[in-house]
Parts: sequence; C-alpha cells; structure tokens
Amino acid sequence: MLRMQTKEVKIGSVTIGGAHPVAIQSMTNTKTEDVAATVEQILRLEAAGCEIVRCTVPTMEAAKALKEIKKQIHIPLVADIHFDYKMAIAAIENGADKIRINPGNIGSEERVRAVVEKAKEYGVPIRIGVNSGSLEKPLLEKYGGVTAEGIVESALDKVHMIESMGYDNLVVSIKSSDVLMCVKAHELIAKQCPYPLHVGITESGTIYSGNIKSSVGLGIILHEGIGNTIRVSLTGDPVEEIRSAKLILKTLGLRKGGIEVVSCPTCGRTQIDLIGLANEVEKMVQEFPLDIKVAVMGCVVNGPGEAKEADLGIAGGIGEGLLIKKGEIVRKVKEEELLETLRQELINWEK
Ligand code: SF4
Repeated sequence: MLRMQTKEVKIGSVTIGGAHPVAIQSMTNTKTEDVAATVEQILRLEAAGCEIVRCTVPTMEAAKALKEIKKQIHIPLVADIHFDYKMAIAAIENGADKIRINPGNIGSEERVRAVVEKAKEYGVPIRIGVNSGSLEKPLLEKYGGVTAEGIVESALDKVHMIESMGYDNLVVSIKSSDVLMCVKAHELIAKQCPYPLHVGITESGTIYSGNIKSSVGLGIILHEGIGNTIRVSLTGDPVEEIRSAKLILKTLGLRKGGIEVVSCPTCGRTQIDLIGLANEVEKMVQEFPLDIKVAVMGCVVNGPGEAKEADLGIAGGIGEGLLIKKGEIVRKVKEEELLETLRQELINWEK
C-alpha cells in the first residue's frame, strides 16, 4: 500500500511520517497527578504494544508529574493541553516529548506564540488538534454547520498561524465522531498538508461500537495511504485500544507480528463450546510474539480445510477436537485439553 509522503517528525525516540510505520498510540485515563497509577497504566500499555502515550495535563501538578512519569516509562510521552497555555509551557519544561494543543482554545495569539517559542527552545513537536465539536462560529456559518471542509479549514488556519511564527515541527489531527465526515476531512487535508497526520475517530463509543466505527473509519483512511499514527478511542481500558489498533494495522497489511486467530461462526454442527474456546484462545495467544495464524473451527465438515490453511488449528468433534499443524492432522485431543494443547504447541513453535 502506498503511503502519502509527509515530513518526518521525531517524538522522543519514535519518528513518524516519511517512510516510517504507522505508530500506535493511546491515552491514559488515570489522574496524571497520580504518578504511580499513571506509570502502572503506561507500563501495561507498553507491554500491549503501545508506542506513544498521551496524558492529560489539566493542572500544574500534572505538568510537574510528567518529569517523574518519564523516568519510569520507556515510550514517548505526549502532554494533552486545553485552555491554559501555562500548562503547555510547563509540560515542555518537564520533559513532554510532544504537546497536543488546539490553538483555538489556548487564547490570544500571543499565548500561542509563547507556547511555540518554548517548543522551539526544546525542539518539541506540537500536535495541532481540531475536533468537529470545537469548530469556530465563522466556519460553522460559512459552511452551514459542521462539515469536513470546515474542519480542514480550521486546522489549516492553525497550521498557518504556527508556521508564521517560524515553527514547522508539527503533527496535525482532525477528528469527528461522524465516520464518513472524518474520512472526507482526511482526504481533503492530506492533499494540502505536508505534516504527519494523527488519525482517530473521536468519541467512537464503547468497546463494541468504538471498535466498529474505528475499524471502518481508520480502515478507509489508512487504506488510502493517509495517516502516520493512530489512536482507537474506546470507552474502556486503554489496553483494549492497543489490541484493536494492532489488529487494524495487521488486517491492512501495515504491520506484521502477532498471532491472528480465525474462528468459525459456529452452527448446528458445533458439538464443543467453540465460542468459549475461541475467546480463550484469542486471549491466550497474546503472550506469544509469533507471526502465525491459528484456526479454531467447530466441526470436521469445514474445520479441517480451514485449519489446514492456518499454521495451527483445531476442528471440533463430539467432546474432542482434531489438532492440525501445518496442514496435517496430528491427533485427537479431548475438549477440555484443547486450549492447553494449543498453548503447548505455541510454546514449542519452531524451537
Ligand atoms: S466449521 Fe463446522 S461448525 Fe463451524 S460454522 Fe462451519 S460447518 Fe458449522
């Protein structure tokens, strides 16, 4: 898949844009002031595969906490600032690797300039974030409400404002919870903006609806070659966002690695608890850094065929299942031993 060319931007140890892979981000939902809780969550996100993490910085105490948090984590830390330019300055001074601001809610141009000067001094990139919900009145009037064109114009106005202050170490994000509007806005801005784009469908909802909306929206946008870093916003444990982001990128062929589990939808032929097993297998495989396909199939009608196309698989029978490896039936395994048998096979995979 061809990626749109953008400038490269270095966020701590991670570079996005150019030919770099699409980076996976999430955002903590702890109080940033609570260093221990925030670090604990970031370490869990790191273990899941998060590559850049963002924390909200609503208070001076939170800005100062960044310094301590940074010492205990291993991925770049982004500070999310709204309204108060002093928080942005303090976040940079306390080691933020990038700051995310909406210049539209930071106040006067002079305040934005003060943030830009501090970012310049420390070489910290700025993500200019514009959400459909915060579109300025003149743009709402010009376009007759919230539109993709309005969101893009709003974002580009801010980009030009910061460029005119002599700074181009920028990342841009434009978000809307309306998936198709979000897609259109990205198509429009990608043609007009040389900076890396952070892509996400905002306020997409709970694990169920959020995953669907994000997969559709991010799927289209990424497939068009747009996007340099992504966040799947979910109302839930942020670790779920990482799992979803990885699967979206893997499905699109933008990332390798991780075990892909395929499973049948079950039907009247299924004679084992395949739904329970497939869910257990999906959880279990996450601890294995293998790039293979595991099939969990319900019966011997289609099961062996599908499982043979995978690297490892089972096809259920009556109270048992066939273990299939690289296309060959290996043996019959009792239903209650299927999960553990698969685990052992993965432990010993090509050792
Ligand atoms: S693999 Fe077997 S159990 Fe699963 S849906 Fe197909 S026919 Fe039904």
